[in-house]
Amino acid sequence: MEFQKRFKEFSRKLKGVEVHTDLCYRVVYNYDATQLRGRCAGVVYPRSVDDIVSVVKYAGDYGVPLYVRGAGSGFSGGAVPVVEGVVVSMEKLNRVLWFDPSRWLVAVESGVVNGELQRYLAGRGFFYPPDPASLEFSTIGGNIAENAGGPRAFKYGVTRRYIHALEWVTSRGDVVDYPMGGVTSILVGGEGGLGVIYSAVLSVLPLPEAVKTALITMPGGAEAVGFAVKVILAGLKPTVLEYIDSKTMICVGEYIEVEGFNKSDAYIFVEFDGVAEDVETQFEMLKDICRREGAAVKEAKNKVERELLWDLRRSISPSLARRGITKVNEDVTFPIGKLEEAVDFMEALALELSLDCYVFGHCGDGNLHVNIMTDRRRTEEMRRAEHFVERLFEKVVELGGSLSGEHGIGLTKRRYLPLLFNEEQIEFAKEIKRTFDPALILNPGKYFS
Ligand SMILES: Cc1cc2nc3c(=O)[nH]c(=O)nc-3n(C[C@H](O)[C@H](O)[C@H](O)COP(=O)(O)OP(=O)(O)OC[C@H]3O[C@@H](n4cnc5c(N)ncnc54)[C@H](O)[C@@H]3O)c2cc1C
Repeated sequence: MEFQKRFKEFSRKLKGVEVHTDLCYRVVYNYDATQLRGRCAGVVYPRSVDDIVSVVKYAGDYGVPLYVRGAGSGFSGGAVPVVEGVVVSMEKLNRVLWFDPSRWLVAVESGVVNGELQRYLAGRGFFYPPDPASLEFSTIGGNIAENAGGPRAFKYGVTRRYIHALEWVTSRGDVVDYPMGGVTSILVGGEGGLGVIYSAVLSVLPLPEAVKTALITMPGGAEAVGFAVKVILAGLKPTVLEYIDSKTMICVGEYIEVEGFNKSDAYIFVEFDGVAEDVETQFEMLKDICRREGAAVKEAKNKVERELLWDLRRSISPSLARRGITKVNEDVTFPIGKLEEAVDFMEALALELSLDCYVFGHCGDGNLHVNIMTDRRRTEEMRRAEHFVERLFEKVVELGGSLSGEHGIGLTKRRYLPLLFNEEQIEFAKEIKRTFDPALILNPGKYFS
């Protein structure tokens, strides 16, 4: 049966589940933050785990590909319906189900936005450590499916560490409600290809007693990441240790109207949290390192100044949109000891290929975001950008890093997997996919397919 007929039968069966096929829905849900387009035939909005079960069961019966979507903020095309199919939008599954302060646990539906959960918890004296810079719009389900990191990951670790249990629907339509570990743990980072997450029980922590935030200026990119490495080697444990190169800082400064950033400088954004005395001691040690290394340090003196620094950090991605309509966006990782070499390499390569390149990211974790701002209509420049990515990935492999720190493989990095994995390893990933999704209806055309 041709797709349109199968899709019609599938939609007819979905009694009580909201389905939309109007052009505006098919356009809006056809892409994610990569701007890659797919072939969206319709959008369904489950409002309960039973709705998800119906969607998955009938999709299996009629061979309709499903693309689960949180907020579509993914940077690897994970939610893009590359094969003609249906987008399953989780945005209406947005309830906090329960909160137990005595066990430091909260249960949420997967469409809850990370930032909304943070506000809910802050009002109760707690926080959820994973804090992707997209937290104001990305969902807990998307964060789990990508095993999202964020600025605080240097101290607190990434999403996986905070999953206590998941309730998810298999590709056969069975509901699994299981604590973390065993079969459930593979859903974390499963990129929407192994099961549909309905809800999660998350571990949370009490808000820290004290926080100290600062911006450190160094006279160049390699010097700045070298400084960050010295902070780590000195035994300090900042919550946040972020690198921002000069071009990025000037761009974001213009965007939020803050002046004073210099073309030749590079920056380390640092924050400590915890018990007041400990935070104070660590901050004094940081200032000692700054004095020794000749680094300028600007400490946030109050909440307003701290929020301004966070605003700078979180406005980087939107500010870059002013520099070009197409963003070639990679999030590679390097061993900490190789960061200086990596930054020098990227700066030189961008110069050699005459590309407008911006580098920033979670350097405490060795995870750098490399963005080339361009225009997909300029084909020759796009070819140079592609060449940049190929040479960058070769360098990543040479230095012992990884092709993705947190954005996932999805669509964009799929073809580069053989750089890191041999045939046997790739076949093993496919075997996992076939076991979880024998009919291949979940997110076909991506990482595991
Ligand atoms: C400005 C900006 C800043 C960012 N900063 C960070 C950062 O600091 N750290 C970071 O890790 N990422 C970051 N990202 C990338 C992105 O926000 C994360 O990958 C995020 O986790 C995606 O969440 P989402 O809800 O938008 O998911 P989507 O993009 O909608 O989906 C991502 C993947 O998850 C799957 N999925 C979504 N929901 C479910 C579910 N309920 N069950 C099963 N699979 C599901 C989808 O099928 C898809 O494969 C950033 C993106 C932007 C635009």
